[in-house]
Order: sequence, then C-alpha cells, then structure tokens
Amino acid sequence: MDFELSPRALELRERLAAFIAEKVDPAEPVYRRQVADSGDPHFHPPVMEELKAEARRRDLWNLFLPNKKWGAGLSNVDYAPLCELMGRSALASEATNCAAPDTGNMEILAEFGTAEQQDEWLVPLLEGEIRSCFAMTEPWVASSDATNIQSRIIRDGDHYVVNAHKWWTSGAASKRCKVAILMGVSNPDADPYHRHSMILVPMDAPGVTVVRTLPVFGHDAGGGHCETLYENVRLPASNILGEEGGGFALAQARLGPGRIHHCMRAIGLAERALELMCERAQLRTAFGKRLAEQGVVQDRIAESRMEIEQARLLTMKAAWLMDTAGNKGARFEIAAIKVVAARVATNVIDRAIQLFGGAGVSDDWPLAQMYTHARTLHLVDGPDEVHKQQIARRELRQYEWVRA
Ligand SMILES: Cc1cc2nc3c(=O)[nH]c(=O)nc-3n(C[C@H](O)[C@H](O)[C@H](O)COP(=O)(O)OP(=O)(O)OC[C@H]3O[C@@H](n4cnc5c(N)ncnc54)[C@H](O)[C@@H]3O)c2cc1C
Repeated sequence: MDFELSPRALELRERLAAFIAEKVDPAEPVYRRQVADSGDPHFHPPVMEELKAEARRRDLWNLFLPNKKWGAGLSNVDYAPLCELMGRSALASEATNCAAPDTGNMEILAEFGTAEQQDEWLVPLLEGEIRSCFAMTEPWVASSDATNIQSRIIRDGDHYVVNAHKWWTSGAASKRCKVAILMGVSNPDADPYHRHSMILVPMDAPGVTVVRTLPVFGHDAGGGHCETLYENVRLPASNILGEEGGGFALAQARLGPGRIHHCMRAIGLAERALELMCERAQLRTAFGKRLAEQGVVQDRIAESRMEIEQARLLTMKAAWLMDTAGNKGARFEIAAIKVVAARVATNVIDRAIQLFGGAGVSDDWPLAQMYTHARTLHLVDGPDEVHKQQIARRELRQYEWVRA
C-alpha cells in the first residue's frame, strides 16, 4: 500500500491550510453574524461569495473531482488530506466548491450526464453559481434499503411524470438550490435492482414543493434538510440520468466517493476537537491541578489520538483501494471506514464536550454543532448497521462450507 502524497498534493495541502488559517477561520464569526442579521437560517451570506472568489484566485477549487476534464484530477489518496483539512472548518468545503451534496451530484453528472445535462447543470455547479440536492430517502419506507424506494417516474410520450414524497433532502431550502437528482421507480416489473431511475428535477418545475425543513436536535441551519413533494411533475425524457432502470447502479456509484469524503472530513472534525480539548486542558485548573495533569484526562486524550490515527490509516487504505481497484473493489473498506470515522468523531467530540464542562454544550464553542454533525454521520449515506451487515456477510461467506 502506498499512501505517499504526490508533490502536487503536498503543495496544495500547504496552500489550503494557509487559505483556511488566513481567510476561512476569521470569516466564521462574520458568516454567523450575517446569517443571524438576515433572520433566515438558510441565507447565503456575502462573506461566502468573498471566500469563494478568494479560493478561485488561489486555485483551490473543485479539488474533490478526480475527473480530469472537469475537476482537479486528484487521486483519492491525494485528496484525503485536503478533505480532512476542510472537515476541520465549518466553511472551507463550500468555499472551495467541495461541499456535499453537490460533490456527489457533480461526480454523477461528470461521469454519466449527457452533454446537454452537463451544460445545463454541471457547468454552473462547477462554477459555484448554483447548488443542488439529492432526493432518495422517503418518510414512509425504510430507505436504508434503497430497493424500498416508492416514488414514481412514469414515462409518458416524450416526458416523464414524477410523483414523489421525499424527506431529509439536504440543501433544498436554499434559494440557490436549483436542481434535485431524484430516485424513483420507473420499471416496476423489473427485478429489484433494475426498477429505479434517477432524474434531474429543476426545483422551479411546476409541482415541486419544499414542505418544511427538518431541524436536527432542534437546530435548523445551513441549506436545510427538507421534506419535499413532487406532484405530477412533468419533465422532458432527456432529464433521465444514465439509463432508465439504472438508478440503483448510479446510487452505488454516487455513494462510494461521497461516503469516503464524509470520513475524511470526520477525521478533520475529530482532530479539531482533540486540539480544543488539549488547549482547554492546559488552561483550566480544578482541585489544585491543571486538567492536563489529571490521569483520566490524559487517558481520554491518548485514546482520542490513537483512535484518530487508526481511522486515518483505514481511510487511506480505502482511498488507495479506490485508486487502484476502483470504487467497487474498495466497497468493504468504504463500508468499514464509514462506521469507524463516524464513531471516532463522535467519541472524540463527546470527550471534548465533557472536558469543556457547560461550555461544551453551549453555542459559544463549536463542539455542540460538531457533535450534531458527527452524530448524523451514523445515519447519512446508510446507517452503521447496513455497512456492518455488508462486512459481516463477506466474512461469513468464507465459512459457508462449514454448513455442508
Ligand atoms: C442530517 C441528515 C441528512 C441527510 N441527507 C440526505 C440527503 O441529502 N438525501 C437523502 O436522500 N437522504 C438523506 N438523509 C437520509 C439518510 O440517508 C437516511 O436517514 C438513512 O439512509 C436511513 O434511512 P431511514 O431514515 O429511512 O431509516 P430506516 O431505513 O427506517 O432505518 C432505521 C434504522 O433501522 C436500523 N436498520 C436498518 N437496516 C438494518 C439492518 N440491515 N440491520 C440492523 N438494523 C438496521 C438502523 O438502526 C437504522 O438507523 C439524511 C439524513 C440525515 C439525518
């Protein structure tokens, strides 16, 4: 296994770290103030456009996209440390046009979109002019099993008619969100893996309604996680993505890279929590000793460091396999790191919150928000149990001969 970063990645990491330290971190309070002053939690503040312009000036743009025609063309191993750096910051991913769910949507469009679809949607997404969402999960079926998805995409002459009820569609509340990639049943008589298609739905198409945003632990922020309705939405047949009936394969193709990006960012999140924990431990004194001198605090710091290092190595292994054996060849490692990275981030942030005392759960520090995000990572892009099931099945297959 070779985790050596290319000279280009090393140079990019240095410049990205400088951009985050010089521009992005100082912009965080400005961003929060501009959003608060607007009275709209989904407001797109001017400071973000300033950051995006600066990222482009510094050539730190679309780094996530391995496709050389459209993106930076970095390998997964090379992108991993950059994505980790972005994960430390609340704003860096969007500032560099590397934020979910757009990244997964851009990858699908770059890989499987027609020239017309790429002109209409991929180009403005790559330019950072619009945003997008991904609508798979539904309120009335267990959507962790994608074969359960029930929304309908029915062919009618030169058109498709979409009827769907979705929820947890991240980003749909933003006025800048112009298109959804929606998954639904197009071929009900086919086998469960060829029943579904994906279709591009302009958010301003007649029949599309954003019903509400779903708060997470009582908070509503960012682009909003939305419940959305699609009622008799009539779309040109050319809006279908890839082949009719090929939605399941597209979902697999989209979720592989998306998951590992979540993991890379989660490790950055855990690193930031550990850094905050160490600084606080050095500063605060209780019962005549600095917290840093308490054995239990040292134990938690050591556990955190060890867990982060383990998670990073597994992430790098998955990234390396994606580069050398393809996304399919890396699927078990991706499943494993999706569980491990979420667990490590949640553990480390939880320890940091405990060390901070009351401040840890306040909004004066970023830990509560970081915890919220880390906790949702156990669910997004498939709950932990589904990934573990996949890993366990592979292990057990090797011992099926015992049954005979
Ligand atoms: C913050 C956030 C953002 C999200 N963003 C998006 C988005 O942009 N687009 C989108 O389409 N979806 C999104 N989701 C939805 C997310 O992908 C789903 O919640 C997830 O896939 C689980 O589906 P479900 O909620 O229907 O849970 P269900 O499928 O009902 O599963 C519920 C629980 O059942 C258990 N379970 C399921 N399968 C098994 C098994 N095989 N073995 C044991 N236990 C099992 C697990 O504990 C699981 O959590 C988001 C969710 C959150 C919380």
